[in-house]
Amino acid sequence: MSGAAWSARAVVHPSALYHIEGEATRRGDGIYDRMRPIGAHEVLAENPSHDRHLWNASDVEIEQFLLLAAQRIQDLKGDGRFKYVSIFKDHGGSAGQEFEHPTSQLTATTFVPRRVLYELRAAREYFQQKERCVFCDIISQEVRQDLRVIEMRGDFIAMCPYAPRVPYESWIMPRTHEAAFERFGLNRPGTMRDLGALLRRTLQRIRSITQEFHLVLHTSPNSQHRSGNLGYWKTIDEDYHWHIEIMPVLAAKAKSYTFKEVYYSPLSSETAVRRLRDARIEP
Ligand SMILES: [Zn+2]
Ligand SMILES: [Zn+2]
Repeated sequence: MSGAAWSARAVVHPSALYHIEGEATRRGDGIYDRMRPIGAHEVLAENPSHDRHLWNASDVEIEQFLLLAAQRIQDLKGDGRFKYVSIFKDHGGSAGQEFEHPTSQLTATTFVPRRVLYELRAAREYFQQKERCVFCDIISQEVRQDLRVIEMRGDFIAMCPYAPRVPYESWIMPRTHEAAFERFGLNRPGTMRDLGALLRRTLQRIRSITQEFHLVLHTSPNSQHRSGNLGYWKTIDEDYHWHIEIMPVLAAKAKSYTFKEVYYSPLSSETAVRRLRDARIEP
C-alpha cells in the first residue's frame, strides 16, 4: 500500500517501562543505586502495512523508517537527562516479540545499557593504545581478507564477526567513520536508502536460516548529558563507530544464550558467511 498517509511513525509504548516526566534522582542505598524509571519508551511502526517488514518492504519504506529512527534519537538526545537512546527489534516468539504489526522499539535512559558501556569502554581503550577506531580497523581487515563479509552496498558492509556470540550473528556498519547513527543518517539522507537495501537483503539471508532474531542499533551516547566527569565520551567521535547487530535465534538454542557469561558458537563465521551469501534473496 503505497498511497498511505504516513510511512513510519513513533508512539509511546502502551505499557512503557520508562516515563518522560520528572528527574531520575539517583541516590545511594548502601552500596547500591536507586533511581526512578525516567526515560522514554516508544514503539516505532516501521510501515503502515501489516505485512511489510524490514525484509520485504521497499527500500524507500525502509529508508523512511531509518530516518524516523534517526530523528527520534536526535530529538531525545536533546534532553540532557538521557545518557543513551537504544533502538531494537525482537522478532519471533522466542525473541520476545510484542506486537503483530511490524515494529521496532526505542528506549531513552538515564544510564548507558551495560553491554553498550562495555563496548564503548573497549573501543576507547583500543583508541588510547592505537589512536585508531577499532571498528574501522575491523572493517579494513575484513574487506582485505574477505572471509566473513556477507555483502557490501554503497558505503555499508554486512559481515559476520570474527568471534560470534551465536551462529549467523551479523553486523552492518558504515565504511565511513562516524560515531553517531543519527548524525550520519540526517546529514547524508541519500545513504539511508543503501542501508535500507542492505538491511533488507541481510534479513532475507538470515531468514533463510531462521525466522527469529534480535536486532539492535548501537550509536554513541548522549554527549549533551550534563555529567561531564565520567569521561567515556571525550574521544567518542573518534573512538566509536555506530553499527547494527543482528543476533539470529536458532530453535535449538532459543533460550540457552540469553544469560550466558561466555558465548560458544558451534558454527564459525566463515561457514556462516558462505551460507548467508548463497541464500536465495530478492534483488
Ligand atoms: Zn571507525
Ligand atoms: Zn555493538
